[in-house]
Amino acid sequence: MRSCEPVLSVDLAAIQANFQVVRSLVASTVEISAVVKSDAYGLGLERVVGTLSDIGCRSFFVANVKEAIRVRRHVTQVDINILEGLRKVGIDAYRQGRLIPVCNTPAEVCAATSNKIAYVLNLETGFGRLGLRLDEVRSLIHSKPRMPELVMSHLACADDATNPCNRLQKDRFVGMSAMLVPSTPRSLVASAGVSLGSDYHFDRVRIGSALYGLNNAHLDPNPFKPVVRLSARLINIRQIHRGESVGYMGTFMADRLTCLGIVAIGYRHGLAWQVANHLSAECAGWPVRIIGRVSMEYCAIDLTDIPAKLARIGAWVDFISVTAPPEVMARSAATVPQEVLVRTGASCTRRYRPVPSGQQP
Ligand SMILES: *Cc1c(COP(=O)(O)O)cnc(C)c1O
Repeated sequence: MRSCEPVLSVDLAAIQANFQVVRSLVASTVEISAVVKSDAYGLGLERVVGTLSDIGCRSFFVANVKEAIRVRRHVTQVDINILEGLRKVGIDAYRQGRLIPVCNTPAEVCAATSNKIAYVLNLETGFGRLGLRLDEVRSLIHSKPRMPELVMSHLACADDATNPCNRLQKDRFVGMSAMLVPSTPRSLVASAGVSLGSDYHFDRVRIGSALYGLNNAHLDPNPFKPVVRLSARLINIRQIHRGESVGYMGTFMADRLTCLGIVAIGYRHGLAWQVANHLSAECAGWPVRIIGRVSMEYCAIDLTDIPAKLARIGAWVDFISVTAPPEVMARSAATVPQEVLVRTGASCTRRYRPVPSGQQP
């Protein structure tokens, strides 16, 4: 009995290609850190880290100590930065694993200093989340803390290049980081911020989305290769008559003789309930609309307009593909494409298209 689980295919060579695209967008002196938090945006921490370290990526950002330990088991010679900060429980883990916490409060900086732990300093410049404020940096300096390996901040509005907050955050970042030892390396931007210009790049950029094929800055043409494909199996095909309805609450009613396909993917697999009645999937290259509500394990599609011989039970239906990137599903679900990746990646069977041998340096 073959599996009816939906499959998220991950193209590892495309992740490498996207790393090289970012490489070409920044000066050769700018270091690129790969952001692999949340299980590499749902795509699988170990596989993504291995793929990137194969082409020379030497620095990673993870969400927490647990992820950091997974990365360290997999690759020994890379920097691992932990976004959640420094947790005092199990403080030895940082030294043993050479893990670098991103300190978000003065207390964390003091703990890193007294425990002689290398750390990254996060500054709050307008995101309104984590990091030290100006007054906190000022008073911290007096206590002569250990100097950070890197000082960083994070832009709130980089997806919109015309947003004045970008400039404001950059100016605050320059002013606040000037209070530290001048040779301290600096990092401000993530994927979208790269296209704001080289004066935003500083010494290091932190790239997540772009590696996974997302075009957050809406670059035209899109230089990033698609990385994921989401496919699910057609498990049933039926005719319904005009006037018959489909799914919970009967939100779709046939206005003609309709060929209905049932596909084994539902909101459990990250196909958002919100896409009901408007997202198009693809069957054998033909667009097929989702009709009725998405249920937990299934959804229905309209196969009426595609050649009958193409729509067979067991056929694959694509919900994310080269022609329908995660951005399309995200728009339909009123969310961001990163959430689409994280949710589908966490709940579908992942299959990896390996890097063809001979293509690696
Ligand atoms: C998630 C994250 C990034 C990466 O963001 P992308 O837009 O996905 O490239 C960079 N820096 C910080 C602090 C983050 O939380």
